[in-house]
Amino acid sequence: MNNSDKPRDECGVFAVYSHPDSALLTYYGLFALQHRGQESAGIVTAAGSNEPFNIHRGMGLVSQVFQEKDLQQLRIGTRAIGHVRYSTSGSSTLKNAQPLVVDCARGQLAIAHNGNLVNAAVLREELESNGSIFQTTVDSEIILHLLARPTGRKNVLSALRLVEGAFSFVLMGEQEIIGVRDPFGFRPLVLGKLDDAFILASETCALDLVHADYIREIEPGEVVIINDDGIRSEWPFKEERKAFCIFEYVYFARPDSLINDKNVSKTRVAMGVELARLHPVDADIVVPVPDSGNYAALGYSHELNIPYEPAFVRNHYIGRTFLQPTQLIRDFNVRVKLNLIKELVKDKRVVVVDDSVVRGTTARARVVNLREAGAKEVHLRISCPPHKFACYYGIDFPDPKNLLANQFKTEELAQYLEVDSIGYLDIEGMVRATGLPMNEFCLACFNGQYPVPMDRELDKFIIERRSARSRALSESAAHPQLFAGLK
Ligand code: SF4
Repeated sequence: MNNSDKPRDECGVFAVYSHPDSALLTYYGLFALQHRGQESAGIVTAAGSNEPFNIHRGMGLVSQVFQEKDLQQLRIGTRAIGHVRYSTSGSSTLKNAQPLVVDCARGQLAIAHNGNLVNAAVLREELESNGSIFQTTVDSEIILHLLARPTGRKNVLSALRLVEGAFSFVLMGEQEIIGVRDPFGFRPLVLGKLDDAFILASETCALDLVHADYIREIEPGEVVIINDDGIRSEWPFKEERKAFCIFEYVYFARPDSLINDKNVSKTRVAMGVELARLHPVDADIVVPVPDSGNYAALGYSHELNIPYEPAFVRNHYIGRTFLQPTQLIRDFNVRVKLNLIKELVKDKRVVVVDDSVVRGTTARARVVNLREAGAKEVHLRISCPPHKFACYYGIDFPDPKNLLANQFKTEELAQYLEVDSIGYLDIEGMVRATGLPMNEFCLACFNGQYPVPMDRELDKFIIERRSARSRALSESAAHPQLFAGLK
């Protein structure tokens, strides 16, 4: 469970078809997608059909996982897929790092997945009772098992119809690269071209980095198959309403990416403008919480004609800390990430603009910083509505009972956070800033309306049944005589 004060994204994917530098392009593509996952990274390459896949995966950042020799070993391939991961399904271990690879009757298959399957427990139970043996605890492996089944051999598309939830993934087979986006289109996936090579990536910023041209988005429900015959699309899924994750615009996606052909930074500025119209305040300066609050703060500052002062300085070099989170360490953690330029806020009425506040612990610490530095007033403005519900589509939120908006009534929040006022953007303003219709978005973590229902009861039942079974097996190992007659 996520204990931080921000939701976390799950993964980023990248794929190249037919380029002599496919491994190097993927390596740099993953650098551009590092913000989508920092726990592990991996690349799989293939030189030609029937050649064994080359695999390298490891724990940590892209720069830590790949050394010169690893890239040399991967460089013999002309096709590649890559992945950066933050774990929400399955634990953060090397065995769960992606891309996952299997060797099955249809040959070798590799997958790199972004999203979360809502019927994972049901499918896994079914596959296991039919003899599948899983190597990992991640839901992405379920897709590989489905594709490896005899029905999958006949028709990959019919196997894909069995999975439900959020999935944008890339597959590498013996002769092709396949990109798949679920029919709701929760997570982004884009297509690019570099000379004669095709590229698939979670975000356009990865295309920019490798000098590829952005062609278009993979549409919700589309499957693109890229091989020596070129590129073609299939539409195996039942048509659904679009439900793109609006939080990609607010927080996850990089500001230099395009989503739905709209620049993310411009959308964030527009959210700041909407926020200023909804919750104006008389103040001396607008201070962003970097990095994702920068653009909303800019919009807020322009709209109200209040000077923009980047008074928090972000330390980009801290990586992860593994110290146990005592109160003292939490306080250091907050300060080590962002330091305050005291001279800019002393004796000022300050508006702090952040993109989201989920637990409130970090926001509270920042307010203390500002007060200690001599700010006369502190007003907090948030460029999205309050988070109240869990996400089942690939984003890791703290337990809903720990979400700030579920712990306090709106009128109590300012007192708890020790601010002079607080204002959240509303759903209407957030959607208006994107320029897209409300019914094209998933807004479930704000309004509790889930586009794909999660059969939580069934999932719970299966999980309980599985743990009861493994308990019984370990008891049988410990007390063989008790179970001797049950064979
Ligand atoms: S529930 Fe929230 S975070 Fe999850 S997909 Fe929907 S909008 Fe995005």
